[in-house]
Amino acid sequence: MQRVLFLTYLLPLAFFTPALAAEEVRVYSGRHYNTDRQIYKKFSDQTGIKVRLIEASGISLVQRLKSEGANTKADVIVLVDAARINNAANAGLFGPIQSDKLVNSVPSRYRDPNQRWFGLTRRVRAIIVNPSIVSPSAVQSYSQLASPSLKGKLCLRKRKNVYNQSLVADQLALNGTSKVKSWLKGVTSNVSQPYFSGDIALIRAVAQGQCGVGVVNHYYLARMRAGVNGKKDEQLANKVKIVMPNPAHVNISAAAVSRYSKNKKNAVKLIEFLASPTGSAGLAGPTYEFPLQGVGGSTYLKGMTKFTPDPVTVSELSRYNKEAIQLMTEAGWK
Ligand code: FE
Repeated sequence: MQRVLFLTYLLPLAFFTPALAAEEVRVYSGRHYNTDRQIYKKFSDQTGIKVRLIEASGISLVQRLKSEGANTKADVIVLVDAARINNAANAGLFGPIQSDKLVNSVPSRYRDPNQRWFGLTRRVRAIIVNPSIVSPSAVQSYSQLASPSLKGKLCLRKRKNVYNQSLVADQLALNGTSKVKSWLKGVTSNVSQPYFSGDIALIRAVAQGQCGVGVVNHYYLARMRAGVNGKKDEQLANKVKIVMPNPAHVNISAAAVSRYSKNKKNAVKLIEFLASPTGSAGLAGPTYEFPLQGVGGSTYLKGMTKFTPDPVTVSELSRYNKEAIQLMTEAGWK
């Protein structure tokens, strides 16, 4: 009798302790923006659930998740770029998410058909121009980047960067292998400079007239215009014109639940908040990305807010990633 009493006394305690410890969500984020913390704080204020943020580059986060395996403390994973997200999903690092809220707030093209990840913010791969070298009217589409009139004037970021891989994957989904092969031949033959390591360096080079045309994510230019990197970059950014190709290649940052999360309920709750109109606008506003719906209203986004996304879905982008890298390599994209 005494033994039974003892057990009934212990059981509620055993349930009570893990419930207390669960009021925290650990986020591994490849979004390198300090301003994200504001929106995590908002979630904590509303729900009482603490958010612990661990930031690192996308590649090292994925490596870390792989090596931690079932011992990982990660609940939510946030990554940028379609290919990176889907590669992590295909490596079995995410668990499936059942959430009507997420299905409602994230348009189908910005989420995984298998419910392993959901988009949070959007970015456009845009064309930037130095108008004293090239007329913006000459580069209104990605296909015009291959035009012989740009010989020696085009600057590009290195092949290993996922942003351009996804742009090429996008073109593959739209136009097929043989058209993309000849497009890439034209594009790479217009490049006479060494390939760049980052979008910001590329914007500076276009502003300074080292290049006439470049391809960058739109928010880098907006951030430079906003003075995020200082006065000098602000002045350079104002010398550059931006073209939002019509239709435009749109990429995302996205969130997933770690396969080994011990805290899946709160993990989903956080992702639901981040993908909600408030959460998405809260993440996208300070970084000059676009929320999932609409474009936000910053003046630094002048000339960037009118664009039509092409019909390629984010999961298609990752499907063509391997072929994209292969064709870029063959075309001499360094
Ligand atoms: Fe970026």
